[in-house]
Amino acid sequence: MMDVATTTRACSLDLEKKPIPILKTMRRLRDAGFRVLDWYAPGCELLGDATRANQLDAWKRWAGEAREQAERLGLSFRQMHALDQDLTKGRDQVDHVEAMSEMSFHAAQILGVRCAAIHPLISKPGRRDRASCLKDNTAYFRRKSELAGRFGITLALENMLTKRYFDGRMEWRFCTCLEDHVELVQSIDCENVRYCFDVGHANYTNTDVRSAIAAMKDDLVAIHVHDNDGFSDQHLIPFQGTIDFELFTRTLAGDYRGDMTMEVLKGANGMPTTVADLALKTVYESARYLAGRVWHHKHKREE
Ligand SMILES: [Zn+2]
Repeated sequence: MMDVATTTRACSLDLEKKPIPILKTMRRLRDAGFRVLDWYAPGCELLGDATRANQLDAWKRWAGEAREQAERLGLSFRQMHALDQDLTKGRDQVDHVEAMSEMSFHAAQILGVRCAAIHPLISKPGRRDRASCLKDNTAYFRRKSELAGRFGITLALENMLTKRYFDGRMEWRFCTCLEDHVELVQSIDCENVRYCFDVGHANYTNTDVRSAIAAMKDDLVAIHVHDNDGFSDQHLIPFQGTIDFELFTRTLAGDYRGDMTMEVLKGANGMPTTVADLALKTVYESARYLAGRVWHHKHKREE
């Protein structure tokens, strides 16, 4: 059966909405049942500390402690969520994200991460047409893949979503449809740039799960699993929204070899610890159930 994993972001905010330190998060996710974690780098506690964030030693020390704790608890970090770039921000902010992104790769290497999910770039106003977005993203991710490669990391580009208005219309954004996603990865054309398929985003954008997974084939290296009602990106526990998880697991039973990575964000954050810990167990059980369905469909195929 495939391994079940969760983003560390699932247990990142306490009742007062204050960040939970990573060592505590790790222990609680292990107690919920998880053995494989996906490190949410944009939520790293170092990023909130302007002095330490700029010190490579601080990142290495931080990652070393997390790695030791992981070994003690029998946990492994295989995947991360990288820092996403937004070119609508000022020059300083854009440069800061690039610098922090490199620091986070140093930490990721110590943690043992091999794969980083990342969002396509948000282009500057005036370059929001499809051709410019494709060009900007191709150039950006060719550079990024070279950097990630130095740390032994594969980038998994994620399908995106966009703002939806009350009348149901959606704002245009690059990479919210399968055609953009496939063309972008093909255009980057680098060995270590593959796909992350987010099933929640696909539900929101009405993307057909079967066509998406068929198009990505062996290049699908990561999945993000959570649920929503199709109208907002709620990141709920599976079966709380409208996603057809039976169809999803049957489709995954083909060639996908990665983990069942949960990206539930609201299910356990901002709650009293006892309640949150029960919710995390529910997230774990839902992941196990889904991995079990994939196993079942795979077996039926082979019979
Ligand atoms: Zn995602």
